[in-house]
Amino acid sequence: MFDQFGEKTRLAMAYALEAARQDGRKSPEAIHFLVGLARANPDLFKKLGLDPEEISKIHAARRGKKLPNSALAGMIPFSENVRLVLKRASEETKKSAHRHVGTGHLLLALFLEDSKTHSIFEKKGITGEKIRMAVADEGQERMFPPQFMNSMRSYTGRSGIGYDLHRLEPGRKLRIGGIEVAFDKGSVGHSDGDVLAHAICDALLGAGGLGDIGTHFPDTDPKWKGADSLEFLRHVRTLYDKEGLHIFHIDAIVIAERPRLGPHFPAMREALAGALGIEIGDINLKAKTNEGVDAIGRGEAIAAYAVASIAG
Ligand code: MG
Repeated sequence: MFDQFGEKTRLAMAYALEAARQDGRKSPEAIHFLVGLARANPDLFKKLGLDPEEISKIHAARRGKKLPNSALAGMIPFSENVRLVLKRASEETKKSAHRHVGTGHLLLALFLEDSKTHSIFEKKGITGEKIRMAVADEGQERMFPPQFMNSMRSYTGRSGIGYDLHRLEPGRKLRIGGIEVAFDKGSVGHSDGDVLAHAICDALLGAGGLGDIGTHFPDTDPKWKGADSLEFLRHVRTLYDKEGLHIFHIDAIVIAERPRLGPHFPAMREALAGALGIEIGDINLKAKTNEGVDAIGRGEAIAAYAVASIAG
């Protein structure tokens, strides 16, 4: 989650943690985020007509008072309130089509989700609209390539289809969607035989009008022997960046009689999204069997289809 945070926002998080520690707490509450933001981006507060020093004073005044209990157990050491704030910050970032969660997004989320922040700001006549305007003013890299923002009409939605099939044999590793799946058979191929990565690769190359996987990564080239197919996707990503193409969404089906793939989908989506530099939510995976029919149904092969929707 935090890899989506802009540099200043990360700094604000670090300051928030520091403020929380000063209060003898392991995890920061909303007030600590506010303190962190005021330190990391005082200009934003000044722009809104709020003296950043005032935030420190509010914090100091509240020190010693009982703060809500943090959910320290489990993976996320944040209270429910803070989790809502972070979720909202990332939603607001998406809404403004910005690439990174900026300090403004986090501030807006605190205003919208945390009642204490809301009342501090309300007393100063600061509205959500005012913060939104400051966020827009701050400006940052957009999720879409500049060509897309500048001239929407010159961009068209495009799609591409990809298909792949590999034979399955005992004694080989089964790589699907960039991860290894434990099974008694694995796919036969020049590279790691990742049927899903290959189908996605072809769908993206097709949508971008960039040829096919065989042209870019020929199976006669020893360079690709046993290659990690995520490398193919990373390469496609660099081609997309060069061409100013933007991936909107990928939908794919993996067809295998066995093993059950559904439980592996979260890890696959993470690996694929990571290689392509897109959001996990922009990749959808589905699993099918072939009802015992033909080579796939007999467990002799695995296949995948993918459709990519892009702007180009
Ligand atoms: Mg293949």
